[in-house]
Parts: sequence; structure tokens; C-alpha cells
Amino acid sequence: MPIDRPQIYDNHGRPIQYMRLAVTDRCNLRCFYCMPEEGIAYLPKKQLLTYEEMLRITSVLAGLGVRKVRITGGEPFVRHQLPNFLYQLAAIEGIDEIAITTNGVLTQKYIPDLKKIGVKTINLSLDSLDRQRFYEITRRDEFPKVEACLYELLDAGFEVKLNAVVMEGRNIEDLIPLARLTDKYPVSVRFIEEMPFNGEGSHYPTLHWTYRRILEHLQTEFPDIQKQIDPLNSTAYHYQIPGFLGNIGIIAAFSRTFCGTCNRIRMTAQGTLKTCLYDDGVLNVRDLIRSGISDEALQQEFIHVFQKRPKDGYEAENNRQSLVHESMTTIGG
Ligand code: SAM
Repeated sequence: MPIDRPQIYDNHGRPIQYMRLAVTDRCNLRCFYCMPEEGIAYLPKKQLLTYEEMLRITSVLAGLGVRKVRITGGEPFVRHQLPNFLYQLAAIEGIDEIAITTNGVLTQKYIPDLKKIGVKTINLSLDSLDRQRFYEITRRDEFPKVEACLYELLDAGFEVKLNAVVMEGRNIEDLIPLARLTDKYPVSVRFIEEMPFNGEGSHYPTLHWTYRRILEHLQTEFPDIQKQIDPLNSTAYHYQIPGFLGNIGIIAAFSRTFCGTCNRIRMTAQGTLKTCLYDDGVLNVRDLIRSGISDEALQQEFIHVFQKRPKDGYEAENNRQSLVHESMTTIGG
């Protein structure tokens, strides 16, 4: 166990330890809460970070104390040669953990590679257990592939977290069946408040399904559902139904109740650093790299913006130049 590892803290005393890295802005689904039906205008490839650039950025951030990288997108497996990149990422000194968020459509055939790379946790997005509702939400008929991927990931021994965005009029009838999956499977089912990152802006004047209402809904079916202790830096409130193998998380993504312990930053596919999901980008890392900046100078740029981090998602949103409207696929959820 290495001692004296560096650890950078932000201006509110929070360690920066975890980067969500979007490896692409492209996606093979068209989830209505994430993108308009026709999709978004994808960026030209040369505007996206190359794998070499991502490796360099990660290595510089590891030197400041980033330990964990979550690969996201867009859909990560849409980008060519992703496993090759992951092998190299895993070899970076200081990176202890690589996790992946995926929609599961293309993921199954890469499961042996993910094992070898040492990936332990996979977040699989699945908003409905009903093929027709899945199709209406994602605008693609890919439920069978995602379902098969879920069971294969569990068989292969991954720690699986199922992400379900809770949407009025779309998948409320799925909440109880999704929660029931935790009976026989050691899966963590996470219900997420819908956010206005859909490429259009807010769908509703107010949020219908707050984390409190999601919990009340679960309590009608599972009155003895129990609160668990939340791990440090967790974004979810954890619950368990007595006797069930898995657990349930409720993520107040829109209510933003977890900012006080936030240790995360985001790197978008085009190389913009976000120190909060709700900010509109604080550093154009891609342009700095392409203008020939040294690693030492890049590290100083990171240190500088980490000292200006908003205290929470509300402050970050207030500091924006424009209203929240961009698609999550450009941010890396
Ligand atoms: N394609 C991958 C996937 O589907 O998991 C990774 C990228 S996706 C943008 C990451 C996560 O963001 C998914 O779990 C998705 O449900 C969530 N997400 C996207 N738009 C959202 C929104 N408007 N509100 C809440 N969660 C959202």
C-alpha cells in the first residue's frame, strides 16, 4: 500500500478523487429524457479527445489524487477499441478503480475483457422491465439485449447497479418490479430523479418524482423497507427490504442533497472539465493540450479551478451563462 499519496482538496475542503470520463458523445439509444428524437448534433471526431489525450489527462489528475475513473458517454461501447484503452487506463499509476456506466446494448461481448481489466462495478441503465415501455422511453427496441447483459454481468460476478430514471407517465409501474429484482439478485437498483439535461430543457414545470415521493411509493408495497448507512461520498440514499439480497438507492439528482461530500469531477467527450454536473464547463483541457501545455502547467490549471468550485449544484447553476438544457450524452452522466 503506497503511503503519502498526493490528495488535492477543493476550496470547500472536499477531496477530488473521482473523475467521470465521457469517451464519446455518440449513443445507440435515444432516451427521451436525455436527447430529442432526432438525436443531438454530434461533434466532429476531431473535436473529441483522443484516447492518448484521455490517458494523459488521467495521469495528470492521478498525480493530484484522483483514484477512480468512471467511463461513460454517450454510450462508451460505441467508441472503437474501448477495451484497448481501458487496459492502458488501468495501468496508470495511482488509478485504483475503473467503473463503467453503459446501456448494455453492445456490452455483453466485452465482459471477459472487463474482467481481465479488473473492472468490478458496472452501472447498467435500465428504466423499464417491459419491452414496450423500454422502447417508448429509449426509442429503440433493444430490451432483450440489455436484459441478457444484466444477467450475464451478475453471473460473471460484477457488482451491478441498475440506474432507472423515474418519469411521470413513463415507468412508474416499473418501480415495484425493479425493486423486486433485489429479492433474488445481489443488485443495487437506483432510482434517479429526472434532471433537465435532455437537449431541450425541463419537461415539467416542477419535478413530480422527488426522492421523497419515490421512497413513499416504495413504502406502499414494502412498508418495512429499511434505511441503510450510506457509504461516504455516495450520491444515493440506501435502503434494503428485509430478507432481500440486493439493495435500493434513491438519487436526489435534481434536488441536489449530496453536494456537501461531492468528490467528483467530469471530463466531457470534447475535453471540457466540469467541477459540478450543473456548471457549464470550467476549463477547456483539450485546447490546452493541443496548444502544447506541459504536464506541470496543466496540473496548475487543475489546481486553480479546483479552488473555485461552487459549494453545490445550485450555486453552479446560478453561475451558468445559459439555462440547463444540454443533453446528458454530451456531459457524461
Ligand atoms: N450510455 C450510458 C448509459 O446509458 O448508461 C452512459 C451515459 S448516460 C448519459 C448515463 C446515465 O445518465 C444513465 O443512467 C442515464 O439514465 C442518465 N441520464 C441521462 N439523462 C438524464 C436525465 N435527464 N436525468 C437523469 N438521469 C439522466
